[in-house]
Amino acid sequence: MTSLEEAFKEALSRFASGVTVVAARAGEERGMTATAFMSLSLRPPLVALAVSEGARLLPLLEEAGAFTVSFLREGQEGVSEHFAGRPREGVGLVEGRVEGALAVLRCRLEALYPGGDHRLVVGRVEAVDLGEMGPPLVYFARGYRRLLWPS
Ligand SMILES: Cc1cc2nc3c(=O)[nH]c(=O)nc-3n(C[C@H](O)[C@H](O)[C@H](O)COP(=O)(O)OP(=O)(O)OC[C@H]3O[C@@H](n4cnc5c(N)ncnc54)[C@H](O)[C@@H]3O)c2cc1C
Repeated sequence: MTSLEEAFKEALSRFASGVTVVAARAGEERGMTATAFMSLSLRPPLVALAVSEGARLLPLLEEAGAFTVSFLREGQEGVSEHFAGRPREGVGLVEGRVEGALAVLRCRLEALYPGGDHRLVVGRVEAVDLGEMGPPLVYFARGYRRLLWPS
């Protein structure tokens, strides 16, 4: 690894984010943990995600032309680990989304753009499911963190 790559990874580890699970179904159904998520546009309502070219989710997402994004809440570290390839007992998707998530976006695939070793996935939000409000799962400095939350 070059010193620029090392510095790049270290710098990005200092960018705090929420944690999502992106899921799609085309024949089979798959979910994948992703922190590279952003809100892109309000009118129309668009979101964007970076999905690895090697992810098994990617061909499903293209074939389905639709996907969900579940925003994980505090306490869902195990769900995040499961959908990042470190399986946990009893974790799965319910109706195409993570049960108990803070919020779920149901998206139609709007566009795919090349992005180096990832693909930039743009989705048009068609429906929103809001869960109970509460503290989010936060990822920072290569670990799960907690947000100070008023009790
Ligand atoms: C905090 C964090 C953030 C990340 N952010 C990103 C990111 O922004 N972009 C990115 O490309 N990668 C990201 N990754 C890496 C990514 O989550 C993994 O590389 C992922 O496992 C690869 O995706 P895949 O589609 O090949 O997954 P797979 O290996 O196919 O699946 C991942 C895991 O989910 C399980 N699973 C899949 N579908 C189901 C289902 N329907 N029911 C039950 N279990 C299922 C599988 O058994 C497997 O254990 C992140 C990882 C972590 C830990």
